[in-house]
Amino acid sequence: MGIFAIAIDGPAGSGKTTVAKKISETMGIIYIDTGAMYRAVAYYCMEKGINPKDEAGVLSVLPEISLKIEIKDNRQLIFLNGEDVTLKIRTQEIGKGASDVGTILKVREYLVDMQRELARKQSVVMDGRDIGTNVLPGAEVKVYLFADVGERAERRLNELRLMGIESDIDEIKKQIIERDENDMGRKHNPLKKAEDAIEIDTTRMTVDDVCGEIIEITKKRLGEAK
Ligand code: C5P
Repeated sequence: MGIFAIAIDGPAGSGKTTVAKKISETMGIIYIDTGAMYRAVAYYCMEKGINPKDEAGVLSVLPEISLKIEIKDNRQLIFLNGEDVTLKIRTQEIGKGASDVGTILKVREYLVDMQRELARKQSVVMDGRDIGTNVLPGAEVKVYLFADVGERAERRLNELRLMGIESDIDEIKKQIIERDENDMGRKHNPLKKAEDAIEIDTTRMTVDDVCGEIIEITKKRLGEAK
């Protein structure tokens, strides 16, 4: 089996990133976090004082944006016009901004081109909202992760706490619900399960169990494809 792809989609806090990273380490393939790309575009706009919802404003600065992905020690670093913004883009505000710039078709086209190019050269596990449906419709394995909203809010809270950010659980829950609505309701490539994706409810599962299941499925598929 040559180059293959594992596409992982799902709503905010469903465990995509944690699971995708672990799969990448276990299987020795590259992990691509596509959400970081939308976040970097939102970050640039917000720094420039442009509302991420302002389509004309966002499009006016899009040509100024150059993104570069680098993989170091199996971690994805994202550079925005040469600056490493990997950590700066992890806030809830930028997450919401990313969801807003993600409604703009030209932004999506620009980022999807980059994502496909990355997957053309090497085997990847890629996570996002439209990977199985739009970015890599031919991916060998497609997974759709979801979890109860309460559980997802807890996970986000802990993630932010690890970064030294204290937040309110009810506020996070509200933001997650808002983001789901925005991502599932948008016109271009909304978040939805690909018809041929395997659904996994991660609410009461450990990271190891979820990864184990996906790796099993992958090995089986690759074996069948030989
Ligand atoms: O996954 P993450 O929370 O970093 O994604 C931030 C936002 O970027 C999502 O809420 C979504 O609106 C957008 N996104 C997208 N398509 C992707 C990845 C992320 O629209 N493939």
